Amino acid sequence: MDVQEWIKNVIKEDEITRYMENGNDFINDAEIWAKIEGNKNPDPSKVRDILDKSLAIETLEPDETATLINVQDEGLFEEIFDVAAKVKRKVYDNRIVTFAPLYCSNLCVNNCLYCAFRKENRAQKRRKLTFEEIKKETEVLAGKMGHKRVIVVVGEHPVSDANYIADAIRAVYSVKVKTKHGYGQIRRANVNIPPMSIDDLKMLREIGIGTFQVFQETYSHEAYQRVHPPGTIKSNYRWRLYALHRAIEAGIDDVASGALFGLYDWRFEVMGLLYHARDLERQFGGLGPHTISFPRLEPAVETPFIHETNYKVSDRDFKRLVAILRLSVPYTGMILTAREREAIRREVIPVGCTQTDASTRIGIGAYSERYSEQEAEKQQFVLGDTRSLDEVIREFAEGGTITSFCTAGYRCGRTGTRIMDLLKCGKEAHFCKLNAVLTFREWLDDFASEETKKVGEKVIGKELQEIEEKMPAVYPKVKEYYKRIENGERDIYF
Ligand code: SAM
Ligand code: SF4
Repeated sequence: MDVQEWIKNVIKEDEITRYMENGNDFINDAEIWAKIEGNKNPDPSKVRDILDKSLAIETLEPDETATLINVQDEGLFEEIFDVAAKVKRKVYDNRIVTFAPLYCSNLCVNNCLYCAFRKENRAQKRRKLTFEEIKKETEVLAGKMGHKRVIVVVGEHPVSDANYIADAIRAVYSVKVKTKHGYGQIRRANVNIPPMSIDDLKMLREIGIGTFQVFQETYSHEAYQRVHPPGTIKSNYRWRLYALHRAIEAGIDDVASGALFGLYDWRFEVMGLLYHARDLERQFGGLGPHTISFPRLEPAVETPFIHETNYKVSDRDFKRLVAILRLSVPYTGMILTAREREAIRREVIPVGCTQTDASTRIGIGAYSERYSEQEAEKQQFVLGDTRSLDEVIREFAEGGTITSFCTAGYRCGRTGTRIMDLLKCGKEAHFCKLNAVLTFREWLDDFASEETKKVGEKVIGKELQEIEEKMPAVYPKVKEYYKRIENGERDIYF
């Protein structure tokens, strides 16, 4: 295929303009700055009113988020962290979900200054996995580590177009591996892939992709153009900005936004993520992002831009921005990635994160093949947390958090606006609590080390006790399912 010809045909102008109003997109840079500047030195009582609104699980207004962004008082910030943690607990209880990225191809036609996969990076060895190789990767993820969710990642290139991604996902779902007591299988394949046309997205929906995730990278029009050189597909800001709108139109209910923090002022990006959520809600009957991600720029091989940016986000600001996002879009899931080091992960997860990756490898083929240290350095970026899933889960359990491998919601139609409504009124927590216990039991039996099993069982014991007290009607059924899982049955859920 002629690459230049392919590039010309990717972007469909009318699949951008149909979502715009009077020729404008929903990011008005001047307006965002005016809101940040106009809400300086907020009164504590105003801040507390906003916190009450978040606790009622209502999306904030831009002025309200700008107010939180402007808080400087450390004491008031402690209150913000505290309420962010409460909101998280109210919507998602003490659960966390884990997943693993599955990098399938690093060929890319774009030239994003911050990414080691950019086409001009000659230090990068290019490779696209075959479907057999994808199956091998999946065997390790599902059969050895015990993951139930992956996120398929590719660069933007004709060799990894929608057809390739569809076949890759079929390959992932086709793997079923015998384990100690049952079997391992990926039950949900999400994607972090380039923006697509509505037709391509429809095809992906039909083969059963999970969440469709695209990060805007930066919401600033000007910074966006600076880091995405002209002439590349990615330099089209609006094609990317409306990627999630197109996905919803194609029938994909669960869409995920994100910004790459470090390309521009973090305060602006938080506002951009809020405006994005609000525009989706406005155009699609209240349906906002299923998750929000907030990766920070990490060093990458032969990628000097990382050291040149003026917008690096400190750990202190990072914790703040995570809490403010939690409060601004209270119903959304929030993903912290293994880009972050263990210490900062411990700080930040309690103020609002609901998902994280673990035992992550981002080299192409790196789960099933041996990677030398030199090769590992050439990955897309450098990981901050390389602990195994078992270690990460043990640490969560020690802190009273249960790791949920539940994917039932998606298979029972609890997606899109239905799940949004359940999340907003706290009812999804009900199903999730039960399924978290069942899926965690499965995982402990099939994959956990003895040490992790011990701590994990304590958490399960506490959860079962809570279910018995708070949901007595359903408790006998939970016990029955639980017994069946102990006897080797798998994938039983509410
Ligand atoms: N190529 C597709 C795209 O750009 O949308 C999808 C996959 S891309 C490999 C996934 C994400 O990695 C990008 O959206 C970007 O936010 C992130 N990324 C790129 N370079 C990074 C770096 N140096 N540090 C941290 N994250 C990075
Ligand atoms: Fe390619 Fe995505 Fe990396 Fe940009 S961020 S160079 S599009 S892989």
